[in-house]
Amino acid sequence: MSIATIKDGIILGKAKVTVDIVDRGNKEIRPETPMNPSELAYHNTGNEGKGANAELHNRYIHNMADKSPLETSHVSWHFTVDAYRIFQHLPINECAFHTGDGFNTKSGNRNAIGIEICMHKDATPAEYTQAEENAIALGVHLMQLTGIKIEKVKPHQAYSGKFCPAVILKRDGGFTKFQGRIKSAFTKASKVTPVSSVVKSYLSEGDNGNGVKELQTLLSKVGYDIKIDGDFGEGTLNDVRDFQKKSGLTIDGFVGKETMTKLKEKVTETTKPVPVVTPKPKPITPKPVAKPVTVAPKPVAKPVVLYGKLTVLVEKLNVRKEANLTAPISKTVSKGESYKVYSQKNGLYCIGTDSYCTSNSKYVKFVKNPDFGKVEEAKTAVVLADTLFTYTKADWDARGVTVKKGESFTVIKELVVSGAKMYQLKSGAFITANPKLVKAK
Ligand SMILES: [Zn+2]
Repeated sequence: MSIATIKDGIILGKAKVTVDIVDRGNKEIRPETPMNPSELAYHNTGNEGKGANAELHNRYIHNMADKSPLETSHVSWHFTVDAYRIFQHLPINECAFHTGDGFNTKSGNRNAIGIEICMHKDATPAEYTQAEENAIALGVHLMQLTGIKIEKVKPHQAYSGKFCPAVILKRDGGFTKFQGRIKSAFTKASKVTPVSSVVKSYLSEGDNGNGVKELQTLLSKVGYDIKIDGDFGEGTLNDVRDFQKKSGLTIDGFVGKETMTKLKEKVTETTKPVPVVTPKPKPITPKPVAKPVTVAPKPVAKPVVLYGKLTVLVEKLNVRKEANLTAPISKTVSKGESYKVYSQKNGLYCIGTDSYCTSNSKYVKFVKNPDFGKVEEAKTAVVLADTLFTYTKADWDARGVTVKKGESFTVIKELVVSGAKMYQLKSGAFITANPKLVKAK
């Protein structure tokens, strides 16, 4: 799986990394075109203005991203670096517009991660030098994470001819010397394992592996004639887009939670399950008799875990990688969308793997699942019936030993088996959760 962002808060060179990805929406700033980065393109900002540091450029690109495409032009890049800070503005597995060479598949815009080095006049020469050192450390880090080769580290000039990065090009030795510094830093760093990176939470073109295989399997189940090879190529991309179009989803070719959920729903719809005859469990058996001969369909055990459901109240809401509001953003969700909430952590709602959002009621409307927590409360189950069967597995037919009135057991999970509740006990056995037969406390 490819990587979306470097890790928020780490130090590269002497700069602290802030991951602050711009919102989706303005395609001239964030085209959302998947990219498997194979090149690094270095720039100088060209902005000598006072205070034109990395933070200012971060604010600038966020402003641009919030505007209508009519008011902006194709100018965007991935990182801005100064003596103290590095900002990441766009995921590195998405394209940006920084090399001025168009948007064909061979262009820098489609292949290169763009790094802007600040050159504001109010920075001291030492601060400028440090900014370059930080940009080199960033380059090395990206090379380690993505496998980009030193020959693929280029100046903006190599793409469109523009005299950029101007400060570096003007200097004796030009970009070749700068590239040499990156090369030696990379050689030194190659013995060190890179700081763990943040793995993106969706699949896109260029990805491969089991996640892609699962996606392709689902696509084939809903009727697409697709090769299940684990490679997210153009064929898969086209099918994904077609499915998104037919399902009323955003047609972006990205397979996140929404697309995956829709696909799974569709698979369930198309592969109608064989109707299950639900046997009414009769667990009360004062006098156990010989093994009953019952032919019943295999019941499915469903743990009751869902915490609740939320609906997004604001236009756009950031979803974070971790349960803290300054963690890197994994995606944004939109007004009116609903998500299952699996748990609450540090006051944030967990809406999926590595996906957390605010619990502020101004931003989200939350409805708690009334059944949630019952399991946690039911720590102990005490038998009320004179004698009662236990079960060796989550199956009403899998009768085990009998237990007597007053005996108590530790409950680890509540299940629904063939429509009736069952407790899974710490001992490994199962018992009915019928409150007339078992008291939970
Ligand atoms: Zn440039």
